[in-house]
Amino acid sequence: MATRVVAGIDIGGTNTKLGLVDQQGTTHRSQRIKTGEYSNSSFAEYMLAIRNCIEEMIKGAEQDLELIGLGFGAPNGNHYTGTIEYAPNLVWNQIHSITDEMKKYYNLPVAVTNDANAAALGEMKFGGAKGMQNFVMLTLGTGLGSGIIVNGQLVLGHDGFAGEIGHSSFVLDGRPCNCGNKGCFEAYVSSIGILKSARELIQENQENTSLSSIPTEELSVKHIHYAAMEGDALSIQIFKQTGEALGTKMAEIVSYLSPEAIFLFGGITKAGDFLFPHIEGEMNRRVMKVFKNKVKVLPSELSAQNAAILGASALLW
Ligand SMILES: [Zn+2]
Repeated sequence: MATRVVAGIDIGGTNTKLGLVDQQGTTHRSQRIKTGEYSNSSFAEYMLAIRNCIEEMIKGAEQDLELIGLGFGAPNGNHYTGTIEYAPNLVWNQIHSITDEMKKYYNLPVAVTNDANAAALGEMKFGGAKGMQNFVMLTLGTGLGSGIIVNGQLVLGHDGFAGEIGHSSFVLDGRPCNCGNKGCFEAYVSSIGILKSARELIQENQENTSLSSIPTEELSVKHIHYAAMEGDALSIQIFKQTGEALGTKMAEIVSYLSPEAIFLFGGITKAGDFLFPHIEGEMNRRVMKVFKNKVKVLPSELSAQNAAILGASALLW
């Protein structure tokens, strides 16, 4: 008997990742397409390339696979309409219908949502949030995305774009943000935001940190982590500051939603003890008594390589 699989597709500005995922979360085949190679193509041509890639994966699989649906995680993906709308990092930055394009090739269910929502669903179906009814996922990458699960359901909101915690205000009239606003949380606690804070601190403390030997444009969160492990006080301070910022925002999230847990996804979670105690400390210091020491702060259990594909497939599983 053929194994039933969902095609999980994660559309990113750099790469489009595809995989065939069964109900247990096993990825049978995976591939990637360089999104940039289609920058001179129409959206329809790019969608055809995705379809061809899915067909190749099914043909190349060792066992018989039966495709039962397609799940897409995409920037500004709208679950209600099956479209992506004005995605800032994609060349197709108008409104485009993924559902309409895929219906040309498949008579199967097609579901679309944004990448952070997909990650939250992936965590619930295949990761550390199995069995949880109320939790929040924060994805820390170039930007800061979030997916909110309430009573076992993904919160989509009136027009499908709920859960943009990264663009809630953090510092009144603070740093400019990609969305056009000033002082958004994302401008401080995404990898870009953390590096910006780091550069400011390094500038003020040139003599006292090993980070000042790294060329500014090459500095990464990994460098800061390594330096922290070697005892560099400024690097430790950067994680403390980031942890406190996260804890502050999480206290706000807790007061709105009373989640069982807040999951963090992204390379920065590797900073472990340099980060998590500060997050929990600050969050518990700021929440009302009824919430104190009740909300778990956990690293995502999805592997970085597979998370996006698993999340997109979880839209249908
Ligand atoms: Zn913003």
